[in-house]
Amino acid sequence: RAKQDGRSIYRFFTPEMQARSGRHMELVNALRYALDREQLHVVYQPQISLNSGRVIGTEALLRWTHPELGTVSPAEFIPVAEETGLILSIGEWVLRTAAIQTQAWHEHGWTDLSVAVNLSAIQFRHTDLPGTVSQILRESHLDAPFLELELTEGVAMIDPLGAIAVMNDLHDRGVRMSIDDFGTGYSSLSYLKKFKVSKLKIDQSFVRDIHSDPEDKAIVSAVISMAKSLGLQTIAEGVETAEQLLFLREQFCDEVQGYHFARPLTASQFEQFMNDWQT
Ligand code: C2E
Ligand code: MG
Ligand code: MG
Ligand code: MG
Repeated sequence: RAKQDGRSIYRFFTPEMQARSGRHMELVNALRYALDREQLHVVYQPQISLNSGRVIGTEALLRWTHPELGTVSPAEFIPVAEETGLILSIGEWVLRTAAIQTQAWHEHGWTDLSVAVNLSAIQFRHTDLPGTVSQILRESHLDAPFLELELTEGVAMIDPLGAIAVMNDLHDRGVRMSIDDFGTGYSSLSYLKKFKVSKLKIDQSFVRDIHSDPEDKAIVSAVISMAKSLGLQTIAEGVETAEQLLFLREQFCDEVQGYHFARPLTASQFEQFMNDWQT
C-alpha cells in the first residue's frame, strides 16, 4: 500500500514539476543569505529627457549573482522574495542603496539626477513605507523629489483605499510616484485621478512593435495624450531602435529608457556613460 501511495505521489509530480520545485527550494534557501553574503547589487539604467536631451535620472534594478546558481533574473527571484517575505528587507536595502548612490552623484555635480526604485505590492501593504522612505532620505541626505517610486497597477487591487492613503502620505512627504508597466494591469482609469502619481511608464510590450503594429502605435499615442490631459509625465521603456525613438518624439513622449541608449549599468559604468554623454 505504502509503495502504491508512494508511486501515485511520484506520478502526480511530473519530472518537470519536480525539477521546478527543486529549483524553487534552492532559490528560497539561497535567497535567505543573498543580502548578508553580498550577492545582491543594484544597476542603474539611464533615463533621458526628449525635451532637453539630458540624462535626468536612472532606474535602479536589482541583480543577484550566486556562486553556484550564477546570475538569477529578477523575473525569477522577485516572486520568490515576495512569497517568503524577504522582499521587505531586500526592498529596503535597494531603496537605501539607490538613495545613497544618487546623493553621491549629486555631490559629484550631477545635481538633477533622480532615481526610480521598483516597489513590490507587499512592501506597499505590509510596512510603514512612508516612515521607512523618510528615514532613508534623512540618512542619505537625498531630497525627496529626487526619489521616485515605481508601482504597478496591482498595488491598488486588494485595498484601493489603503493604497490611496499610503500614496497621499508619500506625496505629502515630497516623494514622486509612477505607474510601471502601464497598460498591462487591471487599473481602472478612474483611479488615475485619485492616485497621486506624476508619471506613467509605457510598458515595453507596446513599444517593441511600435513601427509595425498599428494597434501598438494607437495605444502608445492614446496613453501619451491621455497622460498629457491629466497633467502626467510619460516615459517609454524598452526603447531599442531609432524608429521607436522617432515615433515617441513625434508623439511628444517626455522621456525614454532602453537599450538604444544604455543597458542597466553598474555605478562606475554609469559614471563613464555620463561623461561620454556630455561630450
Ligand atoms: P521593470 O521595472 O519593468 O524593468 C524593466 C525591465 O526591462 C528590466 O529588466 C530592464 O533591464 C529591462 N529593459 C530595459 N531596457 C530594455 C530594452 O531596451 N529592451 C528589453 N528587452 N528590456 C529592457 P530586469 O532588470 O530583468 O527586471 C525585471 C523586472 O524585475 C522589473 O521590471 C521589475 O518589475 C522587477 N525588479 C527589478 N528590480 C527590482 C527591485 O529592486 N524591486 C522590485 N520589487 N522589483 C524589481
Ligand atoms: Mg520598473
Ligand atoms: Mg516596466
Ligand atoms: Mg515589469
